[in-house]
Amino acid sequence: MGDGMSAAKGSGAMEPLESMNVRLPPASAAARALTRDLEALLGPGAVSCEPADRWAASYDGSPRSLLQTKAGLAPHPPDAVAWPATAEQVQAVVRYAVAERVPLTPVGGGSAGTGAAIPLRGGIALDLKRLVGAPRIDLEARAVEVEAGVNARRLEGLLAAAGATLGHFPWGMESATVGGMLATRSGGVRAGRSGKLEDLVLGLEAVDGTGAYLRTEEGPSFGPDLTQLLLGSEGTLAVITRARLRCWPAPTASFSRAVRFSSQAAGARVLRELLRSGLRPAVLRLHGPLDALLARRSPAWRALPTPLRLLLGAGQNEALHLALRAPALLNALADALPAHSLLLFVFEGDGARGEVDAAEEGGEAVRLCAAMGGEDLGPGPAERWLARRDQGVFPREGLFAAGGFAEVLDVAVAWEWLPEGRGPLRRLRARGARRGGGRGRDAEPPPRHRAHPADSLVPRAR
Ligand SMILES: Cc1cc2nc3c(=O)[nH]c(=O)nc-3n(C[C@H](O)[C@H](O)[C@H](O)COP(=O)(O)OP(=O)(O)OC[C@H]3O[C@@H](n4cnc5c(N)ncnc54)[C@H](O)[C@@H]3O)c2cc1C
Repeated sequence: MGDGMSAAKGSGAMEPLESMNVRLPPASAAARALTRDLEALLGPGAVSCEPADRWAASYDGSPRSLLQTKAGLAPHPPDAVAWPATAEQVQAVVRYAVAERVPLTPVGGGSAGTGAAIPLRGGIALDLKRLVGAPRIDLEARAVEVEAGVNARRLEGLLAAAGATLGHFPWGMESATVGGMLATRSGGVRAGRSGKLEDLVLGLEAVDGTGAYLRTEEGPSFGPDLTQLLLGSEGTLAVITRARLRCWPAPTASFSRAVRFSSQAAGARVLRELLRSGLRPAVLRLHGPLDALLARRSPAWRALPTPLRLLLGAGQNEALHLALRAPALLNALADALPAHSLLLFVFEGDGARGEVDAAEEGGEAVRLCAAMGGEDLGPGPAERWLARRDQGVFPREGLFAAGGFAEVLDVAVAWEWLPEGRGPLRRLRARGARRGGGRGRDAEPPPRHRAHPADSLVPRAR
C-alpha cells in the first residue's frame, strides 16, 4: 500500500509494472494534487497515486475485469487511492470529494462479480481495508460489533475462537470485507439455519453522500427502515463504517446426506416439501444432471463419452482445451445427459444436544426423501462438496486460466420454474451469450465483445 510496487519514474511514457502484464501511465499533475490534498486529511502513507496502487484499485472479481487483467488492460484506474483508518477520516474524504466534485468509489475486498467496485469515472478509490479494529464479541447478547474493513474469513476465525459463528459463508469470503458484504447483501451457503446477511444485521454506522454520520438503531422501525435501505446499496448511498451483527453458538455436530432422484422435477418437489415441513437444514442444494455428474455419483458416469468424462472428471487442461475447441459439441453432450438430480443437505446442531438435534432432523429429512422416491447415497457427496467449498475451490478461475469463459449466476425463481429450471436459465444464458456474456455451466470459448473500446480484450490466439 502507498509505495507502489514498481513503476519506474518518468513523464508521459507508459511504464511497465514488474511482474504484471499491465501498463498504466504515471499520475497526472491533477492526480498528484489530489493526492497531496488527501494526504493533508489522512496523513502521509495513507494515499497513493502510484501506478501499481491505481492498477490494484482498478478491477474487481467480475469476468470482464478478469479478462481485462489477463489481456494486460486497466481501463478504469482511479486518480488516487485513499486508505482511511477511522470513520472520521472516511467522513473527511467524503466531504472533500463533495466539495471538490471528485468521483468517489468505496472499495472493500474488490471481490464483487459485477464491476461495482471499479472507479469507472476515476477520482478517489476509497479503500476501507484499514477499518479493522478488533471486533467486540458479546456471546451473552449473541452479537458482534465489527468495522467495515474486516475480512469475512478473519471475522469467522475470531468468532470460532470464541465458540461462535456468524453462520454466513459466501464463497468469496477469503477476499470479501464486512462492509462489502453488507453493501452487496451477500448470500452464503449455510444460510438455511442462521439466515442471510440482511437477517443478521442489528445496526449500521455509515457516512452518507453529504459527509453526515449515520447510526441506525436496533429494533423495529416505525418508518422506513434505514438499515435495510443501506444494505445492498453498493456504495451509492453511504460508506458503511461499522456494523452490529447477530452471531450464534458454533455448531457442535452435523448430519449430511445426498439423495438421488430420477428427475430434476422430482428433486424440486422434495426440496419444497422439505422446507414446508418446517425442517431447517443449514445447507440445502438441488444439483441438476450436470452437477449430479460432477459429484460422480450418477450411474450414467461410466456411460459418458470419453471427452465429456475427462472434462468433468479431471478438469485436466488438455481435456478442457479440447472441449473449448468444440463447445457446441460439449453442450449438446451435456444436454443429452440422463436427467437425474441430486439433493444435498446438511443439518447442524449446537450445545449439549447438538448431535441429537442434527441426527433427528436429518433422519426426518431422509425419511421424507425416501417416501418421495429418493435413493439415499449417504453422507459422502455432500461432505465432499462442502469440503471443496470450504477450501475456496471456485471452478471459474481454472476455466479462465485455460482460455475459457464462465460465469456463476445467482437467480431467484418462483417454485414453478424449478422443475425445468434449465429451460428458462438456458434462454437467459443464450441471451447473455449473444450480448457477449457467459453461459453458466456450459463450456464456452471467450466472448468476442465489440461495443466498448475497453473490451478489445479477447485473449490472444493460443
Ligand atoms: C470467487 C468468488 C466467490 C464469490 N462468492 C459469493 C457468494 O457466495 N455470495 C455472495 O454474495 N457473493 C459472492 N461473491 C461476490 C463478492 O465476494 C461479494 O459481493 C462480496 O460481498 C463483496 O465484498 P467486497 O468486500 O469484496 O466488496 P467490493 O467488491 O470491494 O465492493 C462491492 C460493492 O460494495 C461497495 N462497498 C464496498 N465496501 C463498502 C462499504 N464499506 N460501504 C459502502 N459500500 C461499500 C463497493 O463500492 C461496490 O459497489 C464471490 C466473488 C468471488 C470472486
